[in-house]
Amino acid sequence: MKIVVSGINANLRFSSAHIIPTHNFCGHIHGHSYFVDVEIEGEQSGDFDFVVDFGDVKDSVREHCRELDHRILIPIFNKKIEFKSSGHKNIDLDFFKNKKYLEFNIQEKEYKIPKVDAVILPLKHSSAEELAKYFAERVAEDILSEEKHISTIQIGVNEGIGQGAFFKKIL
Ligand SMILES: [Zn+2]
Repeated sequence: MKIVVSGINANLRFSSAHIIPTHNFCGHIHGHSYFVDVEIEGEQSGDFDFVVDFGDVKDSVREHCRELDHRILIPIFNKKIEFKSSGHKNIDLDFFKNKKYLEFNIQEKEYKIPKVDAVILPLKHSSAEELAKYFAERVAEDILSEEKHISTIQIGVNEGIGQGAFFKKIL
């Protein structure tokens, strides 16, 4: 059995800015009005014979949409983003803990962005593909503690109508 939640109809959306470093078109700061589709396969179980409660799925996805909404998405493991590191070799989430600004170069371009305007993501890219994986991991963490009969979680991150990346996490 499979349940499907349509992001555009169920209001699982966020609007964010991002950059795909060095890409000739997407290398400039730009934004998308994203929406997130979800498909979950599994056995029916529990008191109501649900695969999973639609409300739990929507709560999870909506919360993660909210975290990204109206921010610029910065993937900290991108090799083309050179953070001003003052000697640090490894950039990780801790590196940004006490910083007020994200300061980095992408080739000859220099950026300084208030941290409150950004979301620091432990990803290589802020592409639809990587965001789909990111959402799949987060949603799995949220719903698997209660739901034991789920076999796959597929997330589609759409950068608008007609353009999205779909990742299926097999459990
Ligand atoms: Zn884009």
